[in-house]
Amino acid sequence: MDDKTGKITPTILVHGGAWGIPDTLAEASVEGVKAAVKVGYEVLVNGGSAVDAVERAVRSLEDNPAFDAGHGSVLNSLKQVEMDAVIMEGDHLNAGAVACVQNIANPVSLARLVMDKTDHVLLVGRGANMFATEMGVPSVPMETLVTPNAVKEWEEMMAYNQTIRSCFKNRNIDEAVPVQTGHDTVGAVALDSKGNVAFATSTGGITAKRPGRVGDSPLIGSGGYCDNRVGAVSTTGHGEAIIKVCLAKHIMQYMEQGYTAQEASDKAIQYMTDRVQSSGGVITLKNNGEIGLSFSTERMAWASLQSNTLNYGLNPDEKCSEKFII
Ligand code: ASP
Repeated sequence: MDDKTGKITPTILVHGGAWGIPDTLAEASVEGVKAAVKVGYEVLVNGGSAVDAVERAVRSLEDNPAFDAGHGSVLNSLKQVEMDAVIMEGDHLNAGAVACVQNIANPVSLARLVMDKTDHVLLVGRGANMFATEMGVPSVPMETLVTPNAVKEWEEMMAYNQTIRSCFKNRNIDEAVPVQTGHDTVGAVALDSKGNVAFATSTGGITAKRPGRVGDSPLIGSGGYCDNRVGAVSTTGHGEAIIKVCLAKHIMQYMEQGYTAQEASDKAIQYMTDRVQSSGGVITLKNNGEIGLSFSTERMAWASLQSNTLNYGLNPDEKCSEKFII
């Protein structure tokens, strides 16, 4: 909210996943979140809705092979891509999600179709793919979604608990665990000029997961949440841990209790560390435009755009700023 005019300031915030992003992927991750936040912001300043803005931003991240979503998704234990995605709007709490979906270039847009065209919230596996066909969403060959990075990582990991220790637990416990090379779930939260909030999250999940494994990302309250009365959250990190603490809803509750977006984000990430000893990251937007972000992994690529100011970062406490005028 602009203090002088009383008008709502359109705002968008995106993330590219929380984990120990290696230096080789640092630049691509930062450039990717900066590009995505600009795409979403353009929607907002042209009078578009928050839900359109988060969908467009997440599509941009899904199309970018640097991220573990859409093109660039990681491989399960059968060396296959299975993706999860969700989208939600904060006016009527409409939501749509897909899980374990295959051969889809932009799962977030399929989730949007679930929200807009069905009476359901979550479609999984074969049913989600059947729905895609019904909606005319093209089926793409799996190979077009798989990157050399994903294959390399699959060859190195090939055990789910090894991936979890590599990405989300203290690696010093076992120095032999290799660092995962590509693992960025993506997400966005936005506030439009009418005061509507929305969020979207999309992921290929975690390397070497069991076929059929569904993480936190498509689950309302875990992979994200939004409500015009409070704000919006998108999460990333160790899915099983995030599900156990309902990370996104947790943050919403802290904000309802009066905590700032930043305080609420920090408190919920700390709670997850204390309660289930695993790590992740969140981006949070209050309905007054206040921004928060927090992560307990080594790094999380993020970017925000508000009042033509683009902020972004990767390392803890890092915040770079530049002007972005459309
Ligand atoms: N939360 C995602 C999952 O568990 C992975 C991630 O965010 O890195 O599927």
